[in-house]
Amino acid sequence: MAAVAMFDRPTKKKMGWALFNYFVLTWAPIAISGVLFVLWNLATGGDLPVVTLVVFLLVMRQFNVFTISTLFHRSYSHKQFDYHPLVEGPIRVWNWLFMGTGGRAWAILHRWHHADADTENDPHSPTKTGGSLGNITKQTFQSYQLCLRNPQDYTRFEAGLPDDTFEHFVRWLEAKGVPGLVIFRIPLVLGVLCLLPFVSLPAAVLCLPGIMGSVWFSTVIMVNGLCHTMGYRNWDNGDTSTNLFPIDLFGWGEALHHNHHHKQSRANLGHRPWEFDTGFWALWLLSKVGVVRNLRP
Ligand SMILES: [Zn+2]
Ligand SMILES: [Zn+2]
Repeated sequence: MAAVAMFDRPTKKKMGWALFNYFVLTWAPIAISGVLFVLWNLATGGDLPVVTLVVFLLVMRQFNVFTISTLFHRSYSHKQFDYHPLVEGPIRVWNWLFMGTGGRAWAILHRWHHADADTENDPHSPTKTGGSLGNITKQTFQSYQLCLRNPQDYTRFEAGLPDDTFEHFVRWLEAKGVPGLVIFRIPLVLGVLCLLPFVSLPAAVLCLPGIMGSVWFSTVIMVNGLCHTMGYRNWDNGDTSTNLFPIDLFGWGEALHHNHHHKQSRANLGHRPWEFDTGFWALWLLSKVGVVRNLRP
């Protein structure tokens, strides 16, 4: 197992590099969509509302990272809280629409990562790739496919996860590969986007890189990659996990990943007085109106 450099405090160089990666990887897909809007207007003489659409993509990124983080990670994988059933169902369908996963395989993969963090069995770890973000992404995708297609091999990670008709449908559609995506899910995504008064069909198509890319980069590469290769640590807990606070101030606390590895069931990922977990406090507010239940302190 190749060693990955660990460091106890953020260094200017490392945090600078993390900051660069964070901004490029997180916001580049939205910038690409923005450029496509402008090019479309220039090429066709169209009048896509570029600024409105870019603001919409920024809002979508924040919303999608929140729903993935809270439902699939904090609630399903770690049982830190429960959503009200009337809210859980729509969020689950929404996440499937924009991320392609129903939650069960996502949570199994994530529990597997925690159980075998940075060992040879870790489904995605920089220790197996020398820290290459591309390889970590590839490992994540391949391991996810294993969890999705061979559930009988991962029963040790399935406690309390949904295994219902919707999950079976997601698994069936995923097995169809690209045709399932192109013929079913993408048209559905475009249809939902076109419900918005400022989104025409061309705009919806050009929004796809910004919506799907920003969520993909912000979750897979940011957490699985950057949060195991650069940042700072509070404890020597035997793995390579790191915190990237305050770089991820808009990431709903997910990049307090080292704190999370240290205490997985704790809902508030901020451990030091200055570590503010925006995701936890948003859930705390939602718990006051009944949307969130059983939030662990
Ligand atoms: Zn976790
Ligand atoms: Zn991790």
